[in-house]
Amino acid sequence: MTTRIVVLGGGTGGTLAANRLRRDLDDDVEIVVVDQDDAHVYQPGLLFVPFGLAHLDEIVRPRQRQLHHGIGYRQAAVDHVELDADRVVLGDRSVLDYDVLVVATGSTLVPEETEGLLGPGWMEKVFTFYTPDGAAGLHDALTWFDGGRLVVNIVDMPIKCPVAPLEFCFLADWYLQELGIRDRVELTYVTPLDGAFTKPVASATLAGLLEEKGVELVTEFNTGEVDGPGGRLVSYDSREVGFDLAVVVPLHSGAAYVGRSPGLGDELNFVSTDEHTLQSKARPNVFVIGDAANLPVSKAGSVTHFEGEVLVENIRRFLAGEALDASYDGHASCFIESGFHKALLIDFNYDTEPLPGHFPTSVGLPLLKESRLNHLGKLMFQSFYWHSLLPGRDIPGVGSAMPARGKHREPSRP
Ligand SMILES: Cc1cc2nc3c(=O)[nH]c(=O)nc-3n(C[C@H](O)[C@H](O)[C@H](O)COP(=O)(O)OP(=O)(O)OC[C@H]3O[C@@H](n4cnc5c(N)ncnc54)[C@H](O)[C@@H]3O)c2cc1C
Repeated sequence: MTTRIVVLGGGTGGTLAANRLRRDLDDDVEIVVVDQDDAHVYQPGLLFVPFGLAHLDEIVRPRQRQLHHGIGYRQAAVDHVELDADRVVLGDRSVLDYDVLVVATGSTLVPEETEGLLGPGWMEKVFTFYTPDGAAGLHDALTWFDGGRLVVNIVDMPIKCPVAPLEFCFLADWYLQELGIRDRVELTYVTPLDGAFTKPVASATLAGLLEEKGVELVTEFNTGEVDGPGGRLVSYDSREVGFDLAVVVPLHSGAAYVGRSPGLGDELNFVSTDEHTLQSKARPNVFVIGDAANLPVSKAGSVTHFEGEVLVENIRRFLAGEALDASYDGHASCFIESGFHKALLIDFNYDTEPLPGHFPTSVGLPLLKESRLNHLGKLMFQSFYWHSLLPGRDIPGVGSAMPARGKHREPSRP
């Protein structure tokens, strides 16, 4: 009898998981990927669009073409999952039965949850670069912006790629200097966190970079309202930050269908998942990869990639009736573009915060330090994404587990 694996979501995680599964499993296992559209966006590229450093047509490709031969593709919205019946109901009411379900539907922006954010001023003086339309609109806005208060705001965590708003500040500083108008712009970074980033050593380094570049840091600001016409962010405790141009990262949640699927998700529609095996806590035959999981890791493509190896091995073991491998360690790795053709790199996991040193061994890319080499790494990542990461290939010399060598355990704190 044929075994069927249904993968919900054909983004980063769904694509790489399906490709790895196809390679590892016999042909009598049917694999079907479901996604609501056919536009696969290389999301890290959205950061560069506002500054004219990338164009949308360079970062979007058809989804189905990223899937290996022998993988079925169904373009449809998921309406809900019936865990007790092992079936997925699609938007047109058709049904897909599964033996194993992989949830890879990522996170969704919910700007409507913040008062005023979508009101007057939206896409005029209030933008986000987290969507293709928003990034393109912001590009147009930056061409007319000739001075004033430019504010970058995270409404609340979790968000995808938590360093991307910081990168936006660094690139804005570079861009405005190139235009010769930096002295006419007050740049402000407004975050709900108590520092520039979540982890102490990286937070201090990144706060230092903001200061060096003349970006004001406003912390513990929980945005309750965005007043476009008045040019104000208002926090729940009634603090205000004024702006002429606001770049806002809206609230994120899991996909809405998760909330319509009894027992699958939490109150934010993320799926409760075992930190080490990536098996859902809802059912043994449901596994989760990428942003859809409620794990204490960054919502990042690198995390999704490192999870892929363990996820696929565990699906194979589950089908064979073997004990699961509990080896996913929360490994995350992120380049942080800092402008002027430089970038930093951070590498960390559940137990080890981002530390200085080198990656992946004691020689290699510098960690937590600006360098041109890291900038080249960030640029090369796009090609790696389409040609290695999505096809489900490993990075030579870098496995799923975080490399411990090369990291300075006792950093000299700035
Ligand atoms: C501006 C920006 C910059 C970033 N920079 C980086 C970076 O530098 N490095 C890095 O590692 N990561 C970065 N990321 C994060 C990275 O892109 C994501 O973490 C990664 O794509 C997560 O993969 P995923 O498969 O979980 O979700 P996605 O790739 O978002 O895929 C989810 C898929 O599910 C589909 N879906 C959702 N709901 C339904 C439904 N009801 N029915 C059918 N299909 C559905 C969607 O259409 C989508 O294709 C960035 C993200 C952004 C927005």
